[in-house]
Amino acid sequence: MSNGLVTAGIDIGSTTSKAALWIDEHLGPYVIGPSTTNPRETARECYEKVLELATLQAKDVACVFGTGYGRAKVSFADENVSELSAHGKGARILLPSARTIIDIGGQDTKVISLDANGEMIDFVTNDKCAAGTGRFLEFIARSVGIDVKNLAKLHATGSYQPVTLSSMCSVFIESEVINLVNDEVPLNSIIQGLHQSVATRVAALVKRLGIVQDVIVTGGVAKNAGVVDELERKLGIKVKTFPDHIDPQIVGAIGAAIIARQKYLKQSKKTNA
Ligand code: ADP
Repeated sequence: MSNGLVTAGIDIGSTTSKAALWIDEHLGPYVIGPSTTNPRETARECYEKVLELATLQAKDVACVFGTGYGRAKVSFADENVSELSAHGKGARILLPSARTIIDIGGQDTKVISLDANGEMIDFVTNDKCAAGTGRFLEFIARSVGIDVKNLAKLHATGSYQPVTLSSMCSVFIESEVINLVNDEVPLNSIIQGLHQSVATRVAALVKRLGIVQDVIVTGGVAKNAGVVDELERKLGIKVKTFPDHIDPQIVGAIGAAIIARQKYLKQSKKTNA
């Protein structure tokens, strides 16, 4: 039970669905689960779970905002916002010095540029090429029998000798990786090369906007330290990280909850004026 002002953000992504509560100025409980073919139901389930974790009921929540690819399916939301706005807002509140946000999700990558006041001034997205996304990493990891969560550990194992993957397309990269495994090339070198190829694509996108520091990575792939390391190499900068208790995968949900809070406070002010 909370006495503070509670708002919620529900982020229905292409791969995972997230719900986060923002209680006064702090992150409350959050959940992350797989997205399904029934986003309406998944959104409701995520919301119910997060309320249960907080021992709250829907009536205790002042405002709910949906975001993500499936945001229109969050039928109980008061409103919804784009992923760009949600990630921009979330990243900025959690890291006030953030000027460039790189969101690497399951299906696409977005780079968002903020001005000194935190307003979005520009963005670029890559939703045409699968070979720089989280799903691509899952697909390759699965084809060589690794869990995507273990890619970073393998990347950091042994010496740093990344292979060069020359294919451009995700399906060809898969064949290339399988051939390298069959040729007994060390797995850590293959994974380093894989992360390098993802980072090359993401870095090209970042360079189109121009690098303004501080730079932060959000989205599920931010949890893959191997990709983040390679991205730092490609960009020649150090990427900032969130405090330990902030999971970068829920930054969109947090941003939506914060936007819901700001909207609610603005409306209450108007009503009370
Ligand atoms: P979306 O919002 O598009 O559904 P997410 O931001 O949730 O995408 O990111 C999903 C991707 O994050 C997965 O495809 C996977 O590559 C990556 N991912 C999720 N959890 C982890 C983890 N623990 N370690 C490494 N990568 C992860």
